[in-house]
Amino acid sequence: MINALFAALPERWTQYEKTLNDAFLEAGLQVDLRTSFAPEVVDYIIYAPNSPVQDFRPYTRCKAVLNLWAGVENVVGNVTLTQPLARMVDPGMTQGMVEFVIGHVMRHHLGMDLHINGQDGQWRDHVPPLAQDRRVTVLGLGELGLACARALSELGFPVTGWSRREKFVNGIACLNGEHGLQTALENADILVLLLPMTPATENLLNTDRLAWLPKDSVIINPGRGQLIDDGALLESLDAEHIGHATLDVFRVEPLPTNHRFWSHPRVTVTPHIASETRAKTASQVIAENIRRGEAELPFLHLVDRAAGY
Ligand code: NDP
Repeated sequence: MINALFAALPERWTQYEKTLNDAFLEAGLQVDLRTSFAPEVVDYIIYAPNSPVQDFRPYTRCKAVLNLWAGVENVVGNVTLTQPLARMVDPGMTQGMVEFVIGHVMRHHLGMDLHINGQDGQWRDHVPPLAQDRRVTVLGLGELGLACARALSELGFPVTGWSRREKFVNGIACLNGEHGLQTALENADILVLLLPMTPATENLLNTDRLAWLPKDSVIINPGRGQLIDDGALLESLDAEHIGHATLDVFRVEPLPTNHRFWSHPRVTVTPHIASETRAKTASQVIAENIRRGEAELPFLHLVDRAAGY
């Protein structure tokens, strides 16, 4: 019997108990899944932010910590964690993110607000350009960013992508490095942020780099709040340089009710709903990693602890 500790908030247990047990059965694994064990008998820890487990040292038998979330910034720097850390790459979450990004890009591309908010008898017959005339840049070409970049490219948008390492992707202009970032931003009528939060990406969009964006460009941030210097963004919006910011993630969540983002006419706040780990598909990913651990195969989606993602 394999002992798997579900170390997450109680509402997650309600969401995941059945789907995880179903996935273990499907994978032919005999797993005792519980929210509490003596630490020294635990084989795997299934982990989510705000987990009750913060000190991993007593988990002497644990073969891996399997994160239920794509982002690992809450656990990657934990010095007591010496076991392998895997993050979540879930087809359901990727699909959700593609839908969110496409929806919000299309809102701005088509200028939908003009008609949704303008049902006042005025005939505003401004025809939007075709996708081929709207340049979209995606910062972060990982599981989520690349899927979004590909979907945007398939719709006809000229897409530029930026990542840490050099990449070659058909149909997408892939850039890296600081010079690449400048080019990527200068080519962004619409900018999508899908970078992880690491020391290297914190405040990436500061005053200088926001100025590289074309006037009236739109920022869509489902990555992490810390990627943008909030004060610099507000200044750029107030100066009417950035046209609009659709923000899904924030330094403090929930976003405090008195935060300027809520009332700013050029900001749309969505409450960290761009995409969530989907219990059914994510449970299958967890089961597959436990199967691999038991078969002494390499784990999927291991986090590079030095890079922080
Ligand atoms: P991945 O780890 O697969 O991809 C990260 C991408 O960012 C990679 O392309 C990586 O480059 C790039 N990157 C990392 N650091 C740098 C850097 N310093 N400079 C340039 N590029 C960098 O992550 P995912 O795509 O799965 O997820 C991205 C983020 O999306 C998550 O970390 C999380 O913060 C956020 N997220 C938000 C959700 C929401 O609901 N709002 C839901 C799920 C995730 P390289 O390819 O070279 O490694």
